[in-house]
Amino acid sequence: MITTRHFSIDQLEDAAELLREGQLVAFPTETVFGLGANALDAAAVDRIFLAKGRPSDNPLIVHLASRDDLSKIVSHVPEVAQALMDRFWPGPLTLVFAKSAIVPRSVTAGLDTVAVRVPAHPVAAELIRLSGVPIAAPSANRSGRPSATTWQAVSEDLEGRIAGIIEGAPTQFGLESTVVDVSTSQVTLLRPGGVSFESLQQVVPGIQVYAKQSNATLSNQQLGPMERANETVNSPGLKHRHYQPKARIVLVKDLVSELRTGSEPAAFIGVSEPNDAPKYTRILVCHSVEEYASSLFDFFRQADQVGAKSIYCESVLEVGIGAALMDRLRRASES
Ligand code: AMP
Ligand code: MG
Repeated sequence: MITTRHFSIDQLEDAAELLREGQLVAFPTETVFGLGANALDAAAVDRIFLAKGRPSDNPLIVHLASRDDLSKIVSHVPEVAQALMDRFWPGPLTLVFAKSAIVPRSVTAGLDTVAVRVPAHPVAAELIRLSGVPIAAPSANRSGRPSATTWQAVSEDLEGRIAGIIEGAPTQFGLESTVVDVSTSQVTLLRPGGVSFESLQQVVPGIQVYAKQSNATLSNQQLGPMERANETVNSPGLKHRHYQPKARIVLVKDLVSELRTGSEPAAFIGVSEPNDAPKYTRILVCHSVEEYASSLFDFFRQADQVGAKSIYCESVLEVGIGAALMDRLRRASES
């Protein structure tokens, strides 16, 4: 156990000093809270995997204060990437490039590519700028758990395991960044997120969706050898358990015909009021899919705290942020 120091958003210089010393600091971004370390310090990066219990074959996203720093960590920036950066940076879009030699192998889990993002959140941007180094940062939760969207959720998972937590406000999107591979001539969406597929298509009409993304809903045994190999090469993170509360996640496609059975405590989240609303121990009916997305992970944690055994989650249309929401719900519902 180590002592975790808590910082206000006015104390970023002290937090940046910890990062420069090779320690771990959790900080708010516009997607979810990130767990940062100096991306160029292999020992610091190893501490991320240890603190989270993250499998070492799941690569990290490197966060920059500015696009000007990109040339240090990537070896080639294709034209199509310039167009995507012009439109979406800073923001919730991660791009996968061919990496430069200074990026440690542990950051990229041995891949020749590196995932990079420039966050729009002013606290994240200022912390990275003050630290003076690129910051590797996965979501600030124990591996497999719901991502942290509040500093209290970070503390619940990582207090005593990391050097610092910045007590920023709850995050805006509440789901992780969109990941797009621009390292080959075929631009490919690897993970849906805060930037929608439809808006990416406006910039890159030929963008394809990673064909095996839907396989995230299948177990490894159900995949053929080619599909397993593809998954390993394309986006290693897709094959791991993720986003799971203690309660069982039940995806509800039709509120009327799929009413809940059994008497165990249960929770409900969605955009419509279920007919059996009074039976739930905790219920959240959101006004929009955006609110549903931003509330999801915190709701999972609240449902666990009140002892819900199941969380019923309403399905939504897979457009805009709805695609990212459904991706997380499917993966959270895998056993
Ligand atoms: P997380 O930090 O938990 O949000 O996960 C980062 C995501 O980015 C995972 O799904 C990784 O598989 C993906 N990722 C990171 N680096 C790469 C890379 N070099 N190539 C493909 N996907 C990557
Ligand atoms: Mg994560």
